[in-house]
Amino acid sequence: MDFQLDEDQREFKALLRQFVDNEIVPVAREWEQAGRYPTEIVEGMKDMGLFGITVPEEYGGLDLDPVAFALVFEEIARGWMGIAGILGSHSLACRLISMHGTEEQKQKYLPDLATGKRRTGIGLTEPDAGTDLQGIRTTARLEGDHYVVNGAKMWITNARYADPLPVLVKTDPTASPAHKGMSVLLIEAGTPGFEVTKDIPKLGYKGTESCEILLDNVKVPVSQLVGGVEGRGMQQVLSALEWGRVNIAARSVGIAQRAHDEALAYAQERKAFGQPISDFQAIQLKLGELGTQVQAARLMAYWAADAVRSGRADGATGMAKIFCSEVALQAAIDSMKVHGGYGYSTEFEVERLYRDSILMSIGEGTNDILRTVVAKSLIKKETIVG
Ligand SMILES: Cc1cc2nc3c(=O)[nH]c(=O)nc-3n(C[C@H](O)[C@H](O)[C@H](O)COP(=O)(O)OP(=O)(O)OC[C@H]3O[C@@H](n4cnc5c(N)ncnc54)[C@H](O)[C@@H]3O)c2cc1C
Repeated sequence: MDFQLDEDQREFKALLRQFVDNEIVPVAREWEQAGRYPTEIVEGMKDMGLFGITVPEEYGGLDLDPVAFALVFEEIARGWMGIAGILGSHSLACRLISMHGTEEQKQKYLPDLATGKRRTGIGLTEPDAGTDLQGIRTTARLEGDHYVVNGAKMWITNARYADPLPVLVKTDPTASPAHKGMSVLLIEAGTPGFEVTKDIPKLGYKGTESCEILLDNVKVPVSQLVGGVEGRGMQQVLSALEWGRVNIAARSVGIAQRAHDEALAYAQERKAFGQPISDFQAIQLKLGELGTQVQAARLMAYWAADAVRSGRADGATGMAKIFCSEVALQAAIDSMKVHGGYGYSTEFEVERLYRDSILMSIGEGTNDILRTVVAKSLIKKETIVG
């Protein structure tokens, strides 16, 4: 067994680290609190080719292996998790198009998505259906050479920049089971009837917008049906979400690492009773636990990423997403405790880590739902746990 990154991965991680330390860390707190869009950081990510991490090389992307993919999200989330959101659903949608799109769709969109000239996201959740995606109500009715789409989407990250946005719809609302009547349509920005109606106010995950979208008689050409065949949408989405769970596990490691780093630094600076608080055993217990949990989470995230390399790995990615996201939240809370009263101050980084960490247990499948996914995969003996 090899628990080390290889040389290319180490060099890539160092490059990312440098970018994050120079371009994200110095501005994160101020921009996050001001609700400012991180335009300059987006430009930097374009320059590094990061919008193409899941795009095949033949379409101009980096086509990263899943472990290198995880490194991107770990490092960026260490600086500011909201920035990872700008790349996250973009990368999943690129992967969905790469894996399932027709050749025409790939050629039309992937080269521009790889450079960030075009951006994207993923439109699944609705006001009345999140976990239960088969319960969505958005319909696409075929009329000649186009679909007429009606419905609403909720919580769609990158909605104001996405062009095209892959949208999960029901092409056959009467199908049973429902997933057999579900498809994904690539809807271009500016199509009449497609309207981003609201930026949803959020506790954290700022920097990127999460929006409500209204679809009112939107005419979408049949050529925009992903893969060109109806009824495959749910499978297409689920295969992309697997990388999504690696992405969330890795973001969680980044948050936890930062919580650890902030606690370690603060504990050595802050004095009480005439000595650094790091001399106190009660603080050392927290630091020791933080370091242990962060490293365990990191190994779990890389392990799950590695499992994806060899095909579908619902159990491994589910386990990693659950474990890492819960480590992130606990790490943020423990780091706040090490900071005492200052941990509660918006003038310190750690309160943002706390706000951002909570989302990690919700996005890409809530942890409770994923526990059931892991259980099913254990029952089917799909997961290698030894
Ligand atoms: C900031 C943010 C950004 C997001 N970005 C996107 C995006 O870009 N695109 C997108 O499509 N979606 C996005 N989402 C939506 C996200 O994926 C959903 O919120 C998530 O899947 C949960 O769905 P829900 O909110 O409808 O909760 P619900 O499905 O209503 O779940 C509510 C509770 O019930 C539990 N529950 C539900 N069903 C079961 C069951 N069968 N067994 C046991 N427990 C159950 C859940 O675990 C949860 O605790 C985003 C959400 C947030 C908060």
